[in-house]
Amino acid sequence: MINGTKLTAAPIRWAMVGGGQGSQIGYIHRSAALRDNVFQLVAGAFDIDPQRGRDFGASLGVDPARCYADYQTLFAEEAKRADGIQAVSIATPNGTHFAICKAALLAGLHVVCEKPLCFTTAEAEELQRLAAARGRIVGVTYGYAGHQLIEQARQMIAAGELGDIRIVNMQFAHGFHSAAVEEANPATRWRVDPKLAGPSYVLGDVGTHPLYLSEVMLPELKVQKLMCSRQSFVASRAPLEDNAFTLMQYHGGAMGFVWSSAVNAGSMHGQKIRVIGSKASLEWWDERPNQLSFEVQGQPAQVLERGMDYLHPAALHDDRIGGGHPEGLFEAWSNLYYRFALAMAASDRDDQAALAAIHYPDIHAGVEGVRWVENCVRSADQGGVWVDYQ
Ligand code: NAD
Repeated sequence: MINGTKLTAAPIRWAMVGGGQGSQIGYIHRSAALRDNVFQLVAGAFDIDPQRGRDFGASLGVDPARCYADYQTLFAEEAKRADGIQAVSIATPNGTHFAICKAALLAGLHVVCEKPLCFTTAEAEELQRLAAARGRIVGVTYGYAGHQLIEQARQMIAAGELGDIRIVNMQFAHGFHSAAVEEANPATRWRVDPKLAGPSYVLGDVGTHPLYLSEVMLPELKVQKLMCSRQSFVASRAPLEDNAFTLMQYHGGAMGFVWSSAVNAGSMHGQKIRVIGSKASLEWWDERPNQLSFEVQGQPAQVLERGMDYLHPAALHDDRIGGGHPEGLFEAWSNLYYRFALAMAASDRDDQAALAAIHYPDIHAGVEGVRWVENCVRSADQGGVWVDYQ
């Protein structure tokens, strides 16, 4: 259980690039990083507009002298200080991640980077090599993976409670962009501009989330080939898609499916993962994250509740309040951020055994998300054909 336990020897001196005033995702990064006293926000380049970034940083209590105009100045100036930053989170639009992440690693910093990590697998692998060469941690914020029942599903599948895995059915299909909301909303506008968003919209923006959940629950399952069809129902978004269907064949014969969409009118998040085995199925829905459905063929369906003693110890490890009281996305992100901090601390003391035991969305997860999007786009742009997974 986590409720005030000291998790690291001292808070890690931490900065943010992006995540400024009014950004969608900045607040949850700060909330998650600061929740368990494992990070301390001491600097930042919070905004594309330097003055707005400085004012915002000051309003967060950061020394105005350490609220910099851009990330290059942030890294250069902090490196001169004895008490300079040790880690940085990158919460800027997609097109900037590669350059900022590379610069941070070259500056010797640990990194938490938003997904997608970058635009191409080649770039992602370059970051992976750089992180390994410098001995730095890169965490990627696939935040839903911090929900405790994802760990419960992983443990039940590993124990064979589902039998042989046959089908993984996934979706992240919301309805918020059913109309061309980007015309009035800058945070949506960059998402449908290939220069700023990359080679895809919904595949990278939402599809990679349940995909990563499947990687956590089923670490042995590897895609062999896939087929993707993508559409721009709001025509002005072309060539980027606002809807995509991806069919996957895994090595060993199991099948997977991911529906990625921003035009599922009337749906809130619509993120679900259902894992179907020869004996039973598990299903988790991010709008009810405290419940996990367990359905054994021929028996009444069960609903497992977060925080209850019948769960696997690994699924109780991050419990903060006990069963009944709902925990949500903010707690899930906190669970990831404290693991990022543990990994950074283990890396700094070169404790490879401790590092190997910490399970979190790392640079490998970031690379795999980019690889999946690249394969989906390759299939879709050939007319939705089966392609070997590269
Ligand atoms: P946003 O447009 O709402 O905010 C972006 C912020 O970055 C703004 O404060 C902007 O001023 C700042 N910024 C832009 N360029 C900058 C630069 N060069 N230097 C410093 N600051 C800069 O975007 P958002 O919705 O918060 O998304 C940011 C990232 O987070 C995207 O990569 C997105 O895919 C990701 N995201 C992830 C999740 C998740 O669940 N993990 C959810 C939403 C968004």
